[in-house]
Amino acid sequence: MDRVGLYIHIPFCERKCLYCDFYSGKYSDEVKEKYVEELIAEIKSVGERAKNKKLKTVYIGGGTPSSLPPELIEKIAFAVYENFDNDIREFTIEVNPNSNADFGKYKEIGINRVSVGVQTLDDALLRKIGRLHNSAEALRCLDDANKYFDNVSADLMIGLTENQDVKKDLSVISDRVKHLSAYMLKVEDGTPLQKLILNKFVSVATENAIIKQYEEVAETCKEKGFIRYEVSNFTRSGYESKHNSSYWNMTDYYGVGAAAHSYVDGARYYNSADIDAYINGLHSGNGSQIIERVYSVAEDKEEYVMLALRTCSGLNLDDYRKRYDEDFIVAYATKLDKIKNYIDISNGYVRIKEKYILVQNSVIAELI
Ligand code: SF4
Repeated sequence: MDRVGLYIHIPFCERKCLYCDFYSGKYSDEVKEKYVEELIAEIKSVGERAKNKKLKTVYIGGGTPSSLPPELIEKIAFAVYENFDNDIREFTIEVNPNSNADFGKYKEIGINRVSVGVQTLDDALLRKIGRLHNSAEALRCLDDANKYFDNVSADLMIGLTENQDVKKDLSVISDRVKHLSAYMLKVEDGTPLQKLILNKFVSVATENAIIKQYEEVAETCKEKGFIRYEVSNFTRSGYESKHNSSYWNMTDYYGVGAAAHSYVDGARYYNSADIDAYINGLHSGNGSQIIERVYSVAEDKEEYVMLALRTCSGLNLDDYRKRYDEDFIVAYATKLDKIKNYIDISNGYVRIKEKYILVQNSVIAELI
């Protein structure tokens, strides 16, 4: 039976962070309740369509899932259990430090992994990017999460300013987590942060500083016993995110909720980014999903190669052969020859050498 993942989008936030272009906003309790009713309807319908698949991972992301009352999170979790043939190995919820997460309840309903949006422990930087929490709240949240969960992850951001002290943050956080995601700040079009930068009210790190900060993160994580398994993701042994890994190896996943994306049976589709439409039933549960792309085999192959080579373990030759009924080394022989100095081929995998991880996009571009 094919395995599948489920992503559940909770598009509610108390206030928009200045850099954020995710689909989220502040809504009333009434809207939140209606939204969850529709989520449950969509979960039922997706469960029907997934009858021949076994659900292995669930990820409640946002937005701020922990801004929902715990009883609503419970309803969502039970809808998943009731409507999917499941053998759930990993069930994650994202929380923000200031959002009254109820870890006891989350554990009781079967969630087994928590991802905390720490971003930085520098209070001035947290204010600069418009986060609602401070560093003391972030640490308290991590400590509270650790009372209930073995598998706690933290999100960090780098590139917030020229001299961001990522080593200092990691020295405080690393004992409190099993997994770390370190993302580079992207200044997205149309965000308040972009306007502030264009008007020269604030500045962020230069490219060289970002590279330095990334290298410091990688180095400190290594010293602290973390393994890098994807360009932005570091883990203690055995705590790799199973859900995110399924995005990288193109395992099918359903996304439910406004703006959620799915990849199933070689096609990508999504719900419209419109909460009002969603609570009026416009979603995949009623056949209203938008088809983004139906992949040809050649396109599917390109995407698979690109995603697999972004991971540190690399492209699994056996998996490739099973998926496409051809030998990767033979099919890509000429192209592989051009990038031979940048890659390792061993133990059934093709991977980009660690020292070239920051130029991996250019290496991958030679292949696809
Ligand atoms: S908490 Fe996350 S989703 Fe919400 S506004 Fe901030 S960055 Fe965006």
